[in-house]
Amino acid sequence: MMPGNPSGSLAGRSRISGKSPFLILLVFMVIVGSGCRRTPEPVRETRFMMGTLVEILVYARGEDAANAVNRAFSRMAEVEKATSCRIPGNDVESVREGAGALFSGDAARILQTALSTAIASSGAFDPTLGELVDLWGIGTDRPRVPGEAGIRDALGRSGYHRIPESGRFPPGEIVWLDLGGVAKGYAVDEAVRVLKDSGVGAGIVDAGGDLRTFGVKPGSSPWRVGVQDPDESQELAGILEAGEISIATSGDYQRYFEVEGVRYHHILDPATGRPARSGLKSVTVLAPDCALADALATAAFVMGPERGLDLLEKRDGVEGILISEDGMYHMTSGIGTRYPFRKQKP
Ligand code: AMP
Ligand code: MG
Repeated sequence: MMPGNPSGSLAGRSRISGKSPFLILLVFMVIVGSGCRRTPEPVRETRFMMGTLVEILVYARGEDAANAVNRAFSRMAEVEKATSCRIPGNDVESVREGAGALFSGDAARILQTALSTAIASSGAFDPTLGELVDLWGIGTDRPRVPGEAGIRDALGRSGYHRIPESGRFPPGEIVWLDLGGVAKGYAVDEAVRVLKDSGVGAGIVDAGGDLRTFGVKPGSSPWRVGVQDPDESQELAGILEAGEISIATSGDYQRYFEVEGVRYHHILDPATGRPARSGLKSVTVLAPDCALADALATAAFVMGPERGLDLLEKRDGVEGILISEDGMYHMTSGIGTRYPFRKQKP
């Protein structure tokens, strides 16, 4: 008999068949008891997708767990293919080329979250900045500081009011969509849905800091999620404790290039066409789903400490931690109360 091993428990029971019922019950209880004490080893896999390292960790056993993780990654790849502005052949490309499209499925749901966040943030979040993002080239191997005229032209062709609520872009209407501020979070939600549907009880999907936990961790301890210190890549600003949680972080340290000591990061302010200088270094948002957390984190980053905090505070079920350039933490009322938060720095 192998204590704690479910297949061992079956073998043990068949060997003692014919003995008294009391003995059978006693042996069964010992096996189950020892099984509960042993924490199953998590299955963990990392792949590079959506421009970042994605890690899936699940508490489940054997081949089923590996298959579920595989299906979750495939689902994320599907979302990326349908919505990335860097992958040809999707609706985002059609609209950029003025060929018209009716958004449906994943692309429609992502566009909807993007549009409602654009409206809620008065345009600080703007999913039509594709041309401007392309002009700066941040995160590519050819980043550059564009000239004023180029910025002005690209901005002139952007604007979230160009997105039809129906998701139907007529032929001839050219819009450069960039859904990068929300797509990762949505893909995380979908991966979690696939894992749950596959019978996985608990785990984490982490797409470069946009992450979601689900289920109860073995041992019943709460999930602990580290909030990265925006100044030190190897250090934590703090640790959040939660049950199931969807969380996303936008920061000026995630993707950037430097010229003459000036950092140009990847979150652009639609008001200036340049990397947002709102006084923030990072924004971490907790929300009912990761797509919303992702979009709101980008929006609040552009809006700055006061307006950003206000945006998050007035949304039900949304909390946030905004870290400003002076090292101050601006936190919504549920941080520390609803979600215990241990700061790692004085
Ligand atoms: P995130 O890393 O989620 O904060 O999103 C940043 C990404 O979203 C960038 O790499 C761009 O692709 C896109 N983006 C940049 N600025 C904005 C903005 N103001 N609103 C919406 N998306 C943006
Ligand atoms: Mg985002």
